[in-house]
Amino acid sequence: MSEESFDVIIVGAGVLGVATAYYIQKNSPDKHILLVEKALAPGQGNTAMSAAAVRNMFASSTNQILTDTSMKYFEYVQSELGHDLLFEKTGYLWLLSESQFKHESVQVWMERMKKSGIHYKVYSKKELKKLIPGLNVDFTGDEEAQLMNLQQVDYGLFGGDCGVLDPTRLVEHYFEEFKKITHVKPRFGVYVQRLLLEADPKLDLPGEPYVWQNKKITGIITDKGTFRAKTVVLATGAWANELLDPVGIDSMTKAKKRQLFVIHAEDSPKLKALLNTKGFNEIGCIPFTIVPSTGVYFRPQLQEHGFWIGCGDKLGREYKYFQTDEMMVPESAYYENSVYPVLSKYFPAFEGARPVNSWAGGYSYSPDKIPFVYTECGVLVINGASGSGIMKSDALARIADALYRGLPEAELYGGKKVPSNMLSVKDRKVEIESVII
Ligand SMILES: Cc1cc2nc3c(=O)[nH]c(=O)nc-3n(C[C@H](O)[C@H](O)[C@H](O)COP(=O)(O)OP(=O)(O)OC[C@H]3O[C@@H](n4cnc5c(N)ncnc54)[C@H](O)[C@@H]3O)c2cc1C
Repeated sequence: MSEESFDVIIVGAGVLGVATAYYIQKNSPDKHILLVEKALAPGQGNTAMSAAAVRNMFASSTNQILTDTSMKYFEYVQSELGHDLLFEKTGYLWLLSESQFKHESVQVWMERMKKSGIHYKVYSKKELKKLIPGLNVDFTGDEEAQLMNLQQVDYGLFGGDCGVLDPTRLVEHYFEEFKKITHVKPRFGVYVQRLLLEADPKLDLPGEPYVWQNKKITGIITDKGTFRAKTVVLATGAWANELLDPVGIDSMTKAKKRQLFVIHAEDSPKLKALLNTKGFNEIGCIPFTIVPSTGVYFRPQLQEHGFWIGCGDKLGREYKYFQTDEMMVPESAYYENSVYPVLSKYFPAFEGARPVNSWAGGYSYSPDKIPFVYTECGVLVINGASGSGIMKSDALARIADALYRGLPEAELYGGKKVPSNMLSVKDRKVEIESVII
C-alpha cells in the first residue's frame, strides 16, 4: 500500500475539521495539508445531525467569546461574502419558572451576560401569554402535569442575537474556501484505523517504541494506506476515543446520544399559528424555545414549515462509545413517551403531532462543558464541543490554527485575542459552563 507524507493531516471533515483546515492553510500557505474523512463528503457526521441553533447566551465567559465571535463571523459570511448560510435571527427563548429564574445560577448567568455586553431581555408571564396565545403557563389542577413534575412558566429569558442556520452551508463555506488554497486534494471514503505512534527519534529496533524512548504521533494508518505528517489534527468529535484510547491519550470526553424529530406545521392551523408567532423577531416566527426543567426544546424550521424537536436528557441517558449503528438510530418511543407529553403540555398546539422524520447523533461532552483544543505528542485534538460545536466552530478553528503555528494568542473574528492554550488540558483557563441543553 502507498505511504505518503504531508505537513499536516486533518482527520475528520466535520465543521471543526474543515474550518481548521481552512485557517491553517490560509495562514501557512506553503504547507501541504491532507484532509481525510471516512464519509464520502464533508459535514456528514454530527454536523449534519445538528439542530444548528446558535447562541451567545452562555454563563461562562469562555463560551460567550467562542460563540459571540463565531456568530459575528457567520453574519459577515452571509452579509459581506454573500454565502447564504440561512442564518436567521429567530432568537432563543428560555421559559423558566419563578424558582428557576430566581436561582443563583440564572442570576449569575444574566449578570455575566450583562458584563460581556450580550443582549437579552426578560419577559413576564403576562407578556409571554400575550405574545404566544397557545402557551400553557400554569398547571394548577392538572394532575398529569404535576405527576410529570412540570414547572409552570413565569418568565422568559430571550436573546435576540441568537438564531439558527444551515450547518451544511456553513461546512460548504469553509470547504470551498479551503479548496481554493489547498495543494492537496481532500480524500473522502478513507477510514482511519489507527494513529501511528512511533519512537522519536526512530532507532529502527524491533518492537519499538520502548518505554524509555520519546514517542510521537507521526501519521495515520487507514484502509487506503499509511500517511505520515509532522502534525496530525484529530477533529473526529464524538469518535475521538476510538483513535486516542489505543495510543493511551485520554480524550477527556464522552459521547451521549441526541435525537431530533421533525414535525410539519402545514396541516395544522394551530401549529402554523405557533410557527408564525409575531413580536419576538423581524422574521415573525417563534424563537428557538426551551421549556422549563425537562430539556425539551424546539427549533422553528422555516424552510420546512415546521419544527425540529429535541431534548437534552441527562440522568438516565448513558455515556458511551460512539458506535455508529446504535447511536445513529432515533427512538420513536422516546418521542412518544418522553418528549411529546412534555411538549404538548406547554404547547397544546402539538397535540396529536407525530414526526415525519427523525435522526440521531452524538454530543461529545467535556467535564466542564467547554471544548478542548490542545496538542499532545504530535496530535492536535479538537473536541468536547458539548452540543454546541456549530456555534463555536469559527473560534475553535482559529485557536487550533494558532496552536499549530505555536502562537501564544489566537485572534478571533473581530480582533479579540485569547490565549491559544486556554482550552488545553494542562493550562485550561475556563469556568464551568452551567447553561447547556
Ligand atoms: C441532535 C444534535 C443536535 C445538535 N444541535 C446543535 C446546535 O443546535 N448547535 C450547535 O452548535 N451544535 C449542535 N450539535 C453539536 C454539533 O453538531 C457538534 O458539536 C459539531 O457538529 C461538532 O463538529 P465536529 O466537526 O467535531 O464533528 P463531526 O461533524 O461529527 O465530524 C467528525 C468527523 O470525523 C469523521 N471521522 C470520525 N472517525 C473517523 C475515522 N476513524 N476516520 C475517518 N473519519 C472519521 C466523521 O465521519 C465525521 O465526519 C448537535 C448535535 C446533535 C447530534
